[in-house]
Amino acid sequence: MSGDGDLLCPSVTPETEGAVLFGVVSRVAGRPKVDWLEAPTPVTPEILALTGDTPPAQVLRFAAKCQESFCAHFDGVDCRLVGRLVAALPPVAHEQFPCAIRGDCRWFWQEGLRACERCSQIATYEDHPEASLREAARPYARE
Ligand code: SF4
Repeated sequence: MSGDGDLLCPSVTPETEGAVLFGVVSRVAGRPKVDWLEAPTPVTPEILALTGDTPPAQVLRFAAKCQESFCAHFDGVDCRLVGRLVAALPPVAHEQFPCAIRGDCRWFWQEGLRACERCSQIATYEDHPEASLREAARPYARE
C-alpha cells in the first residue's frame, strides 16, 4: 500500500492530471452500480468519446492522486467525503469488490471495505443527486 502522500482519490473527473479509468457505472433500478476494470487504464480522447453526449464522469469512474489540501473535502488529515458517504449510504452486499486501485485508494485507506460498500454505488457526476448524496458531498472547506 502507498504512503499517505501517494494515495489516489477514487472519484475525480477525467480532466484531472494523471487520471486513470478504473470503473464503469451502469444503472440498476435507477441507481449507479460500478463494475471494475481488471487494471486502471490511461484516459484517452477515444475513451471519453465513447460516452457520447453523456458526461464521462456520469458513466465512468476515474482516479488520480489525492489533492489533499487543494481539495474542498480534505480537513488537513483525512478526506471528509468518504466518512460522510459511509454515514449516508447503506452498504451494498459485496464479493470482495475486485477493485484494481485498492492498494492506493484513500477511501479504502481510511475506511476499509466500508468505503467499497458505498463506492460501488456512486457515480462521480449525477444530474439530480439524492438529498443524502448532496449532503454527503458538502465541501468541508466551506463549513
Ligand atoms: S473505495 Fe474501495 S472500491 Fe472504491 S476505489 Fe477505493 S478500494 Fe476501490
